[in-house]
Amino acid sequence: MQREAAVTPAIRKVVIVGGGTAGWMAAALIAKVIGAQVSIELVESDEIGIIGVGEATIPPIQHVNAVLGIDEAEFLRETRATIKLAIRFENWGRIGESYYHSFGTPGRNLAFCSFHHFWNRARRAGMDVDYWDFDLNTLCAREGKFAKIQGGDPTWDLPYAYHFDSGLYGQYLRRYSEARGVVRTEGLVEQVRRDGESGAVTALTLRDGTEIAGDLFIDCSGARGLLIQRELNVGYEDWGHWLPCDRAMAVPSARFAATAPYTRAIAHTAGWQWRIPLQHRNGNGLVYSSRHLSDDAAAATLLGNLDGEPLDQPRIIPFRTGRARRQWDRNVVAVGLSSGFLEPLESTSIYLIQSAIVRLLHLFPHAGIDPRAVAEYNRQSQIEYETVRDFIILHYHATARDDSGFWRDLRGMAVPERLAAKIALFRANGYLSQDPLDIFMEPSWVQVLMGQGIVPADHHPLADGTVDAELAAQLRELAALKREPVPGMPLHDAFLKAFGGLA
Ligand code: FAD
Repeated sequence: MQREAAVTPAIRKVVIVGGGTAGWMAAALIAKVIGAQVSIELVESDEIGIIGVGEATIPPIQHVNAVLGIDEAEFLRETRATIKLAIRFENWGRIGESYYHSFGTPGRNLAFCSFHHFWNRARRAGMDVDYWDFDLNTLCAREGKFAKIQGGDPTWDLPYAYHFDSGLYGQYLRRYSEARGVVRTEGLVEQVRRDGESGAVTALTLRDGTEIAGDLFIDCSGARGLLIQRELNVGYEDWGHWLPCDRAMAVPSARFAATAPYTRAIAHTAGWQWRIPLQHRNGNGLVYSSRHLSDDAAAATLLGNLDGEPLDQPRIIPFRTGRARRQWDRNVVAVGLSSGFLEPLESTSIYLIQSAIVRLLHLFPHAGIDPRAVAEYNRQSQIEYETVRDFIILHYHATARDDSGFWRDLRGMAVPERLAAKIALFRANGYLSQDPLDIFMEPSWVQVLMGQGIVPADHHPLADGTVDAELAAQLRELAALKREPVPGMPLHDAFLKAFGGLA
């Protein structure tokens, strides 16, 4: 078979610029998976440091740990991590209301017919049924409980993720990577050398004059996008018209006596506040729109809603929502904040890092860069970013809130076409269009749609297979089955003490 010419030579050396979560995740995964074929050097600047937020994850982080062969108890101990079963959204649909977007699958799906259709039929028949009573993650989150379930009923699936200290996580992955041959160089990249013909990056020059040459460069330099933007200037697609929040204010606070196994996302008048429980402290922050709220008002909102002593001064982090127009350009791949930014409402950034590295490993240009692989990488990255963007817009748009200009604007705005079509289909009959590259599957979309007041007008005909009394009995039985393991489970803190090193 004839081979298409590649635009660069075979990849023997990978250079990673940046030692935040993106840089060290890239180093660890590449070293583990293809470390025997390539050498890896990571350059980071202590002077610049890392963004140091980014503490809530989603369940696919378990795959990273599994691929790396990380021991879970050690991981929990080293990163002062806690368990995350869900996000509790407060004041989103209406002030005073809340719901969980859990990682679980409520009820039990039948072929062709998801559980929410049965629930909806029951609701439409006048039965008093709470959709979330059928979700084991939510049942555990409500009671602050967690255990690793082995065996039992197949519906006792309890998917979970972690909250961790992002600084400790980076250090943990650094030790892991260096033990597997990754070379770390401390220094500030000041100049970039390019090939005159292809425009590919050939070497980085540090402030002290050191040259770092490479074949493939992974730009993990954070929001500055040192290679992908400042050098290659690929352009940025700005989504601020859909997601107007452009700043975060973050502050750690003293930990609570009882550690919740979920993140809280509390909506305020012009943004929302996160609360992330760790073993040694809580992470807090307010994400807000500077057009609607001043920094002083943001500080008052954040500090007035902490429930624990602040451990530092609040820190402002400006951001710009959107994505790099090409996340792979020539021999530079942008991973992490250099590839784009979506506010942390659904804790997606660390997953997007993971997914970018996995995609790069799938399409790894070992024999030289093939433009078709680059195009495929960029196509997948774009869809992935856009589907997350749509999911986040949904939270702001599907609301009955009209207590501020912020909410009135977002409620009334025109949303991306794909999202508008998705909402309309679900609203009519509970059906969901699912993009294969969407991180969030049907149970996630259904929980957020219904949690924020969009309940389908109709249900699938398969849910009509029983008379009302029989359906009511089946639902009672299913709710009891889902609840069955909960009373025997330890509290989250007891689990962490026994398994995760909590003192
Ligand atoms: P950074 O941490 O900024 O690292 C950049 C690295 O590049 C540093 O090591 C720096 O020294 C180096 N560097 C830069 N320029 C140079 C240079 N010239 N020479 C040498 N080195 C250089 N994500 C989640 O998944 N969950 C969350 O809950 C979450 N919360 C967030 C809250 C906020 C307010 C923000 C802003 C983000 C949040 N994120 C979250 C996103 C998450 O923080 C990032 O995705 C993650 O930390 C990765 O950052 P990074 O490694 O790309 O960049």
